[in-house]
Amino acid sequence: MDKILEVKSLVTGYQGKDGFVRAVDGVSFDINRGETICIVGESGSGKSVTSMSIMRLVEYENGRIIEGEIKFNGEELTTKNTEEMRRIRGSKISMIFQEPLTALNPVFTIGKQITEAILFHHPISKKEAWQRAEELVRLVGISDPQARLKQYPHELSGGMRQRVMIAIALASEPDLLIADEPTTALDVTIEAQILELLRKLRQERNMSILLITHDIGVAAEMADRIIIMYAGKVMEIAKTKDIFDQPLHPYSKGLLESVPKMNGERGVPLKSIKGSIPSLNEIPSGCRFSPRCPFATDKCHTEEPLLEMRGERQVACWHVDYLIENSLLQIEEEG
Ligand code: ATP
Ligand code: MG
Repeated sequence: MDKILEVKSLVTGYQGKDGFVRAVDGVSFDINRGETICIVGESGSGKSVTSMSIMRLVEYENGRIIEGEIKFNGEELTTKNTEEMRRIRGSKISMIFQEPLTALNPVFTIGKQITEAILFHHPISKKEAWQRAEELVRLVGISDPQARLKQYPHELSGGMRQRVMIAIALASEPDLLIADEPTTALDVTIEAQILELLRKLRQERNMSILLITHDIGVAAEMADRIIIMYAGKVMEIAKTKDIFDQPLHPYSKGLLESVPKMNGERGVPLKSIKGSIPSLNEIPSGCRFSPRCPFATDKCHTEEPLLEMRGERQVACWHVDYLIENSLLQIEEEG
């Protein structure tokens, strides 16, 4: 397989007021060309820090990559200087964020912001850039591009703004698009449209997508493979279908059981995992999930399981064989 991104043993930390914390603690995964990978996990599991590490943006908010490798198209990113990184960001890797209003500049029109992104990457005339902006805006499903390009961010709806952000992210024709909770701020219908747009773009451009979401339902729709993160660690990596057929980690099972069924109310978990994610200052010994795990034994509380290959999948749990043999990882339908 042609790998676009290889992350190995990544450790990223922050100097917080209560000391130094490892928000991402030894994370490894890769993304193939044209593949969509979703990182799923509860709030605080290190999903954003992982993506901000790839973009090398953590250093702008008192964070630091302490260990590990991030290879993009075979090139090591962790050792690049600010200028080299600035060139890669926004050209070969683009990122879209959760709240598109804060990412857009309120004093410039949409057209100006998109053409600037285009001109940053392509030595073409302003007129050509404007034409290309129109094409991009149309591509992301905005009708009447000419009128839209003259508007200011506050004149657009949330869904429209997110489309504009996607247009800006695509201006450089990136190989990898990182989308961090791109639809959380949007209503369900708009969310579905944006996700459909990402699917279409991925197909048409053979772009790889790293999609971050706390919603495993979104991951089910979008991902080829899913990475389940918990408290800075990867608990499981597997093809989407495999995870849904049979999760191998008790935490994955817990997340799956929290998905509302089709007739359920959106966003209201049917069954939540007991307890809460630990503070990074108080990471439990052994397996980080052990205090919340219904199957934890003494060993789980003292020894940390590594992420190990299991066929095509990877899982970090001491008891995976036992749990499968005894059908303990089966998803219970009702909460
Ligand atoms: P969410 O679903 O809420 O977006 P997440 O999985 O993206 O959660 P991260 O933003 O990656 O979580 O943060 C993981 C942890 O890293 C946080 O709980 C926090 O302890 C720490 N962290 C993140 N950013 C900073 C920062 N700028 N300074 C200090 N600690 C930080
Ligand atoms: Mg986040």
